[in-house]
Parts: sequence; C-alpha cells; structure tokens
Amino acid sequence: MEKIILTGDRPTGRLHVGHYVGSLKERVRLQNSGLYDKIYIMIADAQALTDNAEHPEKVRNNIMQVALDYLACGIDPEKSTIFIQSTVPELTELTFYYMNLVTVARVQRNPTVKAEIQMRNFAQSIPVGFFCYPISQAADITAFRATTVPVGEDQAPMIEQCKEIVKKFNAVYGETLTDPEMVLPGNAACLRLPGIDGKAKMSKSLGNCIYLSDTEEDIKKKIMSMFTDPTHLRREDPGHTEGNPVFIYLDAFCRDEHFTEFLPEYKNLDELKEHYRRGGLGDVTVKKFLNSVIQSELRPIRERRQMWEGRLPEVYEILRAGSERARCAAAETLRDVRRAMKIDYFEDGNLLK
Ligand code: ATP
Ligand code: MG
Repeated sequence: MEKIILTGDRPTGRLHVGHYVGSLKERVRLQNSGLYDKIYIMIADAQALTDNAEHPEKVRNNIMQVALDYLACGIDPEKSTIFIQSTVPELTELTFYYMNLVTVARVQRNPTVKAEIQMRNFAQSIPVGFFCYPISQAADITAFRATTVPVGEDQAPMIEQCKEIVKKFNAVYGETLTDPEMVLPGNAACLRLPGIDGKAKMSKSLGNCIYLSDTEEDIKKKIMSMFTDPTHLRREDPGHTEGNPVFIYLDAFCRDEHFTEFLPEYKNLDELKEHYRRGGLGDVTVKKFLNSVIQSELRPIRERRQMWEGRLPEVYEILRAGSERARCAAAETLRDVRRAMKIDYFEDGNLLK
C-alpha cells in the first residue's frame, strides 16, 4: 500500500511556533525521510470560512501568508503538493455523503468541537458548517487516501471521528476508504504549546502567539513579557517549572548545544530547572536564554521566508499547480466512492435495465 500524508492549516492568520513544533517540523521531517509516496498539504480555506463567513478577506489574505510559512519551514514543493481546499469541490461532495454516517450526538461529544464552540462564544448560534467541520476533515483525509496525518494533540478527536466514518462507510458500502493513522510529535511539550499569556493553547484566534514571521525585536518583546510562575516573585524564591510556559517552551525548543552556546553555566535543561526550583534563579535570565534559543531556531526560517516573499509569482504557481494535482487525486477517490454508493449512474448502462 502507498504511504500517503495529508495535513493542513486554516488560513486564519500567519503560522506560529505552536504550529511549528506541533506539526510543521514533523511534516518536514517526514517529507525528507523519503518514506512517503505522496504528501498533500492543504490550506483549509473552506474550513476557515466555517467560523469566518463574514470575513472572507481575512481568509483570502492569509492564503499566501500560510504558503510562505510552509516554504520558509522547509516544505519542498518538489516533494509535497501544497493546495487550497476550496479548489477541490470533490471534498465538499464527499462531506455531504459522510454527513449521513454521523449522528448529531456524536459530533456534540467531540471534545475539541466543544472547546472551540466555547472559545468562540457561539452558545446557541453555532453555524451548521462549523459544527460539521470534523466531518469535512474526514473527507479531506480520505479523499487523498491518506495513511498518515501529522497533527497537534487537539486534532486527536478529529482523527478518531474520521476513523469511525471510514469503518462505517466500508461496512455499509464495501471496502473503499483507507484508514488513517495520526502522528503526534514525540516531545510532550510540543503536543499543545501554550500561549505567551499562559493560556492552554497558542492559537491564531486567541492572539497569544509568536509568529514564524515576527521580527527579532517582536520575538524578544513577547518573550520578555511572557507569563511565568506567579508564585516566583523574587529571584531567591523557589519556583515551579511544571506548567510554567517559559519552561514548556524550553522543553519544546532547547537542546544541550544551546547551553554551550548561550548559557554555559549549565550543562542542560535539567540543571537549569533544578536551580529554578531551588530558588536563586531569576525569570529574566531564563527568558533571555529562551530568547536566544528561539531566535536561533527562527532566524533561518525568517530568512527563507524573506527569500520567498521576493518570488511571489513562483509561490502562486506552486499553489495553482498543487491545487490541480490535488483535484485529480481526489476525483479518483470520488469515482470509487460513487461506484460503492451505487450513484455512478452514467458510468455503465445499468440504469436502463
Ligand atoms: P485557529 O485558531 O484558527 O483554529 P490554530 O492556531 O488552532 O488556528 P490550526 O490551523 O487550527 O491553527 O491548526 C493547524 C495545525 O497546527 C493542527 O495540526 C494543530 O493541531 C496544530 N496546532 C495548532 N496550535 C497548536 C499548538 N498550540 N501546539 C501544537 N500544535 C498546534
Ligand atoms: Mg485550530
């Protein structure tokens, strides 16, 4: 069986370091492993419209931003197909068929949907399209016969729901769809990076992000103003590293070499944490170190982004060609789906019999 990756992001803003450690870095690693036959990376504009119906310009303006972020991180258009969701109408068709295989109660139980409804203050006014986005996500994954979906932890309930749809479809209509597996980042701190405000998730919609395209000064300002341990008031107080966003970011980003380069008084992160817990280590020292680590990680990404910003017509062409390729792949699956569902009326003469 071919090994196929599908993953993507909503064009609701530029991409941030949460996307980077939670999914993008992993995609680039998988892309360069040579173990995958096909890789599809989707800019999920139709999904973004489910909760931004009144702001189409926001979605449109972020298409190029997200594409630039991909290229900046090392997504290689020779190896990966980058495409725009709405240019593949087969995905909408497939969503419509899958809706019959999922109950309203089942979507209501999806913990990520629940959390997102609350976060957006939808209360009684949830758009039907937003409510159904886990179903449309199942269509995205299965239309490309994806075997592997690299995502952050918040997407686990979506993949679970997708697997249920695959099982149900295959049971009702015969073996047609491929069952996907989720790939989470190996490092626990990367599963769900908190915001700089200490909120549980860094998220474009919450405005608590360090963006991949932020300038050096922006990043420094954000890091120096980050939340830390509220009980660690004076330098000599013992501090908590657990649940402390500054240390979670260090868990996600720092390697032993960073200590040699930027903070040689310590050998590794364990030693630094130990000192913080004991007391006598100030937040400013830790934040300055975190700043050096993040700057060194983001500098090459920012430089590659600037290079691509000077080649926008090429980026446009990458998206256009990728969308065309993606549409062909999805159309093939749709042919199989229609045959399985017995709605391929004009493919043979059976309607006359
Ligand atoms: P929005 O607020 O519009 O939903 P978002 O910041 O949640 O935006 P998405 O486009 O929904 O970003 O998510 C894209 C991918 O990045 C998903 O695989 C998701 O799991 C992952 N991801 C998003 N935020 C984080 C985070 N803070 N930590 C780790 N992974 C994340
Ligand atoms: Mg999201």
